Amino acid sequence: MEKYIKIVQDAYFGYFDYLKNEILYPSWTNYFWWLVGLSLAVWLLEIFFPWREKQAILRKDFWLDGFYMFFNFFLFSLVAYNAISNIAVEAFNDLLGLFGLENMVSLHVDTWPTWAQFLLLFVLADFIQWNVHRALHKYPALWEFHKVHHSVEEMGFAAHLRFHWMETIIYKTVQYIPLAMIGFGLIDFFIVHIFTTAIGHLNHANLRITYGPLKYIFNNPIMHIWHHAKKLPEGSKGVNYGLTLSIWDYLFGTAYIPNEGKNEPLGFDGMEDFPKTFWSQISYPFIQKKK
Ligand SMILES: [Zn+2]
Ligand SMILES: [Zn+2]
Repeated sequence: MEKYIKIVQDAYFGYFDYLKNEILYPSWTNYFWWLVGLSLAVWLLEIFFPWREKQAILRKDFWLDGFYMFFNFFLFSLVAYNAISNIAVEAFNDLLGLFGLENMVSLHVDTWPTWAQFLLLFVLADFIQWNVHRALHKYPALWEFHKVHHSVEEMGFAAHLRFHWMETIIYKTVQYIPLAMIGFGLIDFFIVHIFTTAIGHLNHANLRITYGPLKYIFNNPIMHIWHHAKKLPEGSKGVNYGLTLSIWDYLFGTAYIPNEGKNEPLGFDGMEDFPKTFWSQISYPFIQKKK
């Protein structure tokens, strides 16, 4: 138990130094400045080459989404999540040790070339996320949390990281077990993280990009706007669940792009009653359950 308490303490005390260093010392392996840089770059593209010309540069919920972006990327992911995940890793390893199990699927990825490790981790993680995302739409209890992301009415880069912190917990927990079993642990490859953040920003941006024939591999704004569309095909819980890769939707028949969807109304039924501020949105699923 003491071991676990120490892990939490280290994660929190380490965080202030961490964030201070991130902000004060820009470098090529710095999450803070990469997020700022990527956001500015995609925002500039939106300003100079907007898809919906009439959409304001400071679109609806621009600042709210900006706050979500910082909160989810730093305050939550890197503070709470580090503490929780470090504990999960210790507990998981302790549990394996208890049964004398180790590296159950012994792929020995650590002997692979780095690029192959990157690729496997990226494709596998994306496929797991695609399945989690489907579950967020399928199960009503999970959908209550996912509504935050779907309450976006005007798309722009910052909408990417507008989601309930519970999603971080759900995604990472589900992702962790299979990845740990093939020996990845929780090493977060910096390049994979930055790459997926860039694609995610672009998916939500006010930009008309499809990547040509690569659209069957990579998710893009025209595909993702249909994921946010208020009107779904008859009897469907959702379409275009892809995060970074679009390939899963094409493979499993959930791809749906009837037209460009430039001015398609976004959201979900009954969103007039959905709260509008950060704290009320964050507490909404919990209050909702008590009713
Ligand atoms: Zn969704
Ligand atoms: Zn989205």
